[in-house]
Amino acid sequence: MKLFGSMFAVALTVATITGCGREQQVTGIFVSEALNTMVQTEAQFGDIALGSDPWEVVVCQIPQDTTDPIFDSNDVRLNLSSGDIVAKLDPVIAYFSRWSHGQYQPNFTAVNGVSISAEEKSDLCVERALDQASPTTRGVMVIANAQHSESAVGGWGRPGSPCEKNCSAQATRRAVYIGAADFMPFWTGNPPLDLVEHEMGHALDWPHSSTSVDNFGNGVYDSDIDVMSNSAAPRDVNVDIRNAPGPLGINLYLSHWLNDNNVALLENGTTSFDLVATSTDLAVDGLRLVLVPLDNSTVVSVELLQASGDNRHLLDDRVVIHQIESAGETGFERRQTVLDADLQSGESWSGGKVNISVKQLKTNNSVTTARIEVRIAS
Ligand SMILES: [Zn+2]
Repeated sequence: MKLFGSMFAVALTVATITGCGREQQVTGIFVSEALNTMVQTEAQFGDIALGSDPWEVVVCQIPQDTTDPIFDSNDVRLNLSSGDIVAKLDPVIAYFSRWSHGQYQPNFTAVNGVSISAEEKSDLCVERALDQASPTTRGVMVIANAQHSESAVGGWGRPGSPCEKNCSAQATRRAVYIGAADFMPFWTGNPPLDLVEHEMGHALDWPHSSTSVDNFGNGVYDSDIDVMSNSAAPRDVNVDIRNAPGPLGINLYLSHWLNDNNVALLENGTTSFDLVATSTDLAVDGLRLVLVPLDNSTVVSVELLQASGDNRHLLDDRVVIHQIESAGETGFERRQTVLDADLQSGESWSGGKVNISVKQLKTNNSVTTARIEVRIAS
């Protein structure tokens, strides 16, 4: 059973809330319109983030005299086949396997390339790849064989139109498109894959995050703690890292990659609890994500990031807090804003009626735990 299946109410059991050295069992019925809206929005996409997800990988030939300003004016072209690209995507499969705890696996297949004429735009590469896709393919990943200009975006991704069952990319138009830059010979066969992972995130209906709500729609990717913001942040710290940072807990949760007992909603009073890191193996019991509703469209999220694996660029384990606001018709439009990107032991964050304190951060047997106290004024 998946959590929050009901349209009307959220029934939630907080398995073990530990406080004052003794264990309390807390059970309750909670209602959060904001969270229900987010869950229902994702329900439109069925099992888009679960199971084996068949993708076709397509190289698009861009003519030397292309007039699309998205491309750099140089005449260098990528000399790789779709099969060559697929052979480099194993770390992407491993990344999603890690974060979904084995519940989601993109399955990339190389297919025939497509091309556009000098007068046509890059978007037509994607339209042609979608038109030729086999009926069982759920998404197409198109790599242009030309690099984008410095000022252009590196790529884009979309989940396509809502679809619950037997979702063919031909019908939904689900796609990822990226320029050639990350696959050029400069990378000596070891391409950065953070952009691919970011665009695949959009194909799972994940939105951007940023440090200010004013940044939405302005192409500001300034949060180093989320694949859906500055996906290159790990490379900025260590040039040898190839993957993006991990996804935020809210995206893991809405993708059904956490268990019911890993998530709690707090509505009032003072509560102490232990969080384990979002990357912790699901065999380890414990909360990964705590949500506090602010109003009918907004919740505050609290999670623990461990500075290891895909998040090792963070250097310190930390508690992070976001404001999650449902907006629009899809998850892509959800507004995920950093409220605190690095809360350490002894520090607190306060906003409106909510106060969140980190009482302790410790690691035992390689499992990092944060003791948190949330106070919600009535
Ligand atoms: Zn993006």
